[in-house]
Amino acid sequence: MDLNYSPEEVAFRDEARAWLQANLPDDLREKVSSYAHLSRDDLLRWHRILARKGWVAPAWPREWGGTGWNVVQRYIFEEELGYCGSPPLIPFGLSMCAPVLLRFGTEAQKKQFLPRIFNGDDFWCQGYSEPGSGSDLASLKTKAVRDGDHYVVNGQKIWTTLAHYADWIFCLVRTDSTVERRQEGISFLLIDMKTPGITVRPLILMDGAHEVNEVFFDDVRVPVANRVHEEGKGWTVAKYLLGYERMNTGRIGASKREFTRLKEFAKDIRDTRFRDRLSRLEVELMALEITNLRFLDRMRRTGQPPGADVSMLKIKGTEIQQGLTELMMEALDPAAHDVFAVAVRKRYLSMRKTTIYAGSNEIQRNIIAKMTLGL
Ligand SMILES: Cc1cc2nc3c(=O)[nH]c(=O)nc-3n(C[C@H](O)[C@H](O)[C@H](O)COP(=O)(O)OP(=O)(O)OC[C@H]3O[C@@H](n4cnc5c(N)ncnc54)[C@H](O)[C@@H]3O)c2cc1C
Repeated sequence: MDLNYSPEEVAFRDEARAWLQANLPDDLREKVSSYAHLSRDDLLRWHRILARKGWVAPAWPREWGGTGWNVVQRYIFEEELGYCGSPPLIPFGLSMCAPVLLRFGTEAQKKQFLPRIFNGDDFWCQGYSEPGSGSDLASLKTKAVRDGDHYVVNGQKIWTTLAHYADWIFCLVRTDSTVERRQEGISFLLIDMKTPGITVRPLILMDGAHEVNEVFFDDVRVPVANRVHEEGKGWTVAKYLLGYERMNTGRIGASKREFTRLKEFAKDIRDTRFRDRLSRLEVELMALEITNLRFLDRMRRTGQPPGADVSMLKIKGTEIQQGLTELMMEALDPAAHDVFAVAVRKRYLSMRKTTIYAGSNEIQRNIIAKMTLGL
């Protein structure tokens, strides 16, 4: 096993780092580093800068704009994106809907949607969860009934991240309620958010931010041409997509940047218990990085995707992200009320979500138990 980067990979990293440093606009860098709110325009501006460079969708096939980088280069690039402190690339279009279209979409669907996702013309959101159907996703009830060339959709989605920014939503809907296995009878639809009958209602999280929403569908007419894959085969699509979702949750580059900042911020704290926890977190972050490199080495040698054990990255990555905010809170003067102190407290509250979304960490542990440990 070789966990070191080759000289070529180091050169690639340096090139990517230099370009990102030079092209990340100062105001966006400042917003990210002060944990400020990022608007739709902020997110799309950075997306479009990378699109113009041809670096916004490295994993896509070359014919649709991919870079042709191997898995290690893609990992290095992702880490550099996090490390330089850029706004996040919103995954719903780029790394969720697009891989689904590439795998299951018709040529017409690919032509209609992929270039617009690449260029940042359309903002996407993900309509999976419903009240009572989160971990138990297959129990979802939003219904789509066929009416000629359309489906008529009725129901509700919940926790829909950035639906208030979105032009399109990809949804799992029930097209057949008579099936024995709940996983059957589900279909995958692409829905234009401007269609009459769609209502988006904000859910304010405990940090006071408007990030997630409820989305209601009331007799929403969706062309059958917007169904991806066969009717009733939406679960196959959903499973394929969740693998992609979990690969992106480790966020090692961003955590390394946060760790450097925490160390600097807390450099005068001599309390041994605090310093002990700081060291532990650093060791865990290093261990996570090595685990990630192990996955990469295996992928580099076998060409195989990581499989169910990618859940480990989700669990440890999100626990570390939360651990960083916990120590930052402890390092903060409780009496401080400046802009940064308020932002740190909000961030602490905001990061509670990471162990819930993209499949809660308890569910990830179940997956490891079943698929990796064979329990
Ligand atoms: C900030 C945020 C953003 C989100 N964004 C989106 C989005 O854009 N699109 C979307 O579709 N969804 C989104 N979600 C929804 C997210 O996927 C669900 O919240 C998650 O899957 C958990 O489902 P639930 O909320 O229904 O909780 P439940 O499934 O009711 O779980 C409640 C608790 O029970 C535990 N639990 C449940 N089943 C088991 C089990 N079998 N074994 C052990 N423990 C179990 C869970 O881990 C959790 O702690 C988002 C959620 C959050 C918090």
